[in-house]
Amino acid sequence: MKQSPTEIPAVAEKIIQWYDKSGRHLPWRELRNPYAIWLSEVILQQTRVEQGRSYWERFLQELPTVEDLAAASDTQIKGLWSGLGYYRRADLLHRGAKQIARTGWPQGTKEWLEVPGIGPYTAAALASIVDGEVVPALDGNAFRVYSRLADWSEPIETSRSKAFIYSLALNFVHPKRPGDFNQAVMDLAQALCTPKKPKCNECPVQELCDARSAGSAELRPV
Ligand code: SF4
Repeated sequence: MKQSPTEIPAVAEKIIQWYDKSGRHLPWRELRNPYAIWLSEVILQQTRVEQGRSYWERFLQELPTVEDLAAASDTQIKGLWSGLGYYRRADLLHRGAKQIARTGWPQGTKEWLEVPGIGPYTAAALASIVDGEVVPALDGNAFRVYSRLADWSEPIETSRSKAFIYSLALNFVHPKRPGDFNQAVMDLAQALCTPKKPKCNECPVQELCDARSAGSAELRPV
């Protein structure tokens, strides 16, 4: 990667500033309630925000705490989930609620990973948002942004590429606002750093992006 270590905080700062101005306003982002945030992450795993939002609101209205969710019947949960698809998520959510009601809220990525239905991306997202852990949340969108920032030209699926992107992303995560930073990368990926025709001219880090300098943004990730 061509950026010097002194430029890495500049990238993080620019992304955070862009997020404060242009990030999506989503109701769960205004809350510090781990239940509401966990619920949003599970619902949005395979669902668009526009669709998931009303489900999230309904769950919170009918089952306002993790204890309420844990004590709810399967029928009630399936009713609330109806129409959202991927019904296994509803079972995992219920099992997760029972576990959390029994053991308390997880602290950090490692403990979030022990909750049913939580994979590495969601665990990191939750740890950064809820617990303030400085850890990158890496899904396909985030991989695209980071691989372009570094103009990484190797196939992204290899373990070498994954290790490189992880350590790069770890350097980038804003130390004071890790949760906001991960959400900012997600918004940037969806609004500007899109798979096709990225809007580099509107991007807050265009001057620090290696793929943009090389003219290879659309070719990354490989
Ligand atoms: Fe993505 Fe373009 Fe921004 Fe680079 S400059 S991060 S390729 S939108």
